[in-house]
Amino acid sequence: MYDAIVIGAGPAGLQAALTLGRMHRPALLLDSGEYRNGTVLHMHNVVAEDGTPPAEFRATAREQLAEYTDLEIRDVAARTVTRTGDGFSVVLDDDTAVEAQHVILATGVADDLPAVPGLQEIWGVTAFSCPFCDGHEHAGRPIGILGAAPRAQHLIGLLGRIVGDITAFPVGEAYTAEETALLEGLGARVSAEPVAAVEPVEGGVRISTATEESDVAGVFVASGTLRHRAPFADQLGLRLLDSGSIEIDDFGRTSSPGVFAAGDLAHRASLPGPMASVVMAVAAGQLAAVGVIQSLMAP
Ligand SMILES: Cc1cc2nc3c(=O)[nH]c(=O)nc-3n(C[C@H](O)[C@H](O)[C@H](O)COP(=O)(O)OP(=O)(O)OC[C@H]3O[C@@H](n4cnc5c(N)ncnc54)[C@H](O)[C@@H]3O)c2cc1C
Repeated sequence: MYDAIVIGAGPAGLQAALTLGRMHRPALLLDSGEYRNGTVLHMHNVVAEDGTPPAEFRATAREQLAEYTDLEIRDVAARTVTRTGDGFSVVLDDDTAVEAQHVILATGVADDLPAVPGLQEIWGVTAFSCPFCDGHEHAGRPIGILGAAPRAQHLIGLLGRIVGDITAFPVGEAYTAEETALLEGLGARVSAEPVAAVEPVEGGVRISTATEESDVAGVFVASGTLRHRAPFADQLGLRLLDSGSIEIDDFGRTSSPGVFAAGDLAHRASLPGPMASVVMAVAAGQLAAVGVIQSLMAP
């Protein structure tokens, strides 16, 4: 029986495991190898690690975690999490089961991108969604924004002062006249035709519509949805927020005692949505681990 099983070894799970390991709490860290920034070459807006490849960040973390003897790491997916009499049983994809008093869910989310041919292939390389993470790298250079007008408006507001020319391309259906006027009013060019495909070219991305092609340094995606990477919120009946994320309190506690959550899949009700970033996930992972330790010490 572990004190905690941490499911997920992105920034949130790695930090939760580090905190538990340093406090000599027997813990198991599980990793299925599906990271949200798995295709990203360089991460940004991470103090002292600005520009570090995420794979290097994970490898360094794993190397450092190996020093903590109370910590065990297994590269295997968890399949089910069920509550038992005195904790939780986690069934793994190798058909074994492990038990713990607490679980920390750090399984993240997956990006379901709009159905634009070629987009998946350049995701995280020259196609992004977060201005804080990838805006500065496009300073003074032309970019394309793909998708829904409300989010496009928000992206233009954030990126307008950083990048060069911005062209907004609708996905699926053309923008309405009102949407076109709104986006043009913010200084963007607006394509009358929806994007048909994107492809990598020297120095960036070629965006094609039915009749035109334009080359930009990168694209920012304004459409698409987030999906929980793993089914454990459903399996455990956790309370979700309007954003679809798991509701947590300040120490990562979910609505179900003994179940903690950290990272992109969870946030506090006081926030409008998940603050998806490496630093925020790391902070949330540490808070959840401290929450577990508080629970273990409770009389
Ligand atoms: C294109 C792109 C670029 C980004 N660039 C930046 C950037 O520059 N800077 C920045 O701060 N943020 C960036 N982000 C956001 C950042 O990647 C996330 O906020 C961060 O990875 C969230 O960490 P996490 O630990 O919650 O989830 P993840 O990093 O997604 O990790 C989830 C973990 O859960 C594991 N897992 C999932 N299901 C299971 C299961 N069933 N069993 C076992 N393990 C499981 C996965 O294998 C993985 O280890 C970017 C995101 C994207 C999409």
